[in-house]
Amino acid sequence: MPYRFECPLGSCQFVLRSSSSDEVERLVRAHARLSHRGRIDPADIDRGTERIEAA
Ligand SMILES: [Zn+2]
Repeated sequence: MPYRFECPLGSCQFVLRSSSSDEVERLVRAHARLSHRGRIDPADIDRGTERIEAA
C-alpha cells in the first residue's frame, strides 16, 4: 500500500511518496530535521500521511 505525505507545517510544500509507512516516517523525520529544526510531532506525521488506494 503506497503512502503519500504532505507536510502540514506552515506553508511547507514538501511532499513524498513511499510504499512503506516506516520509510515515510524516516524520510519525514529527515525532512523535519533539515527544514523545521527537528520539530515534528507524530500527530503531524499522522495528519500529513494518507494511503493511496491501488487502482
Ligand atoms: Zn515541511
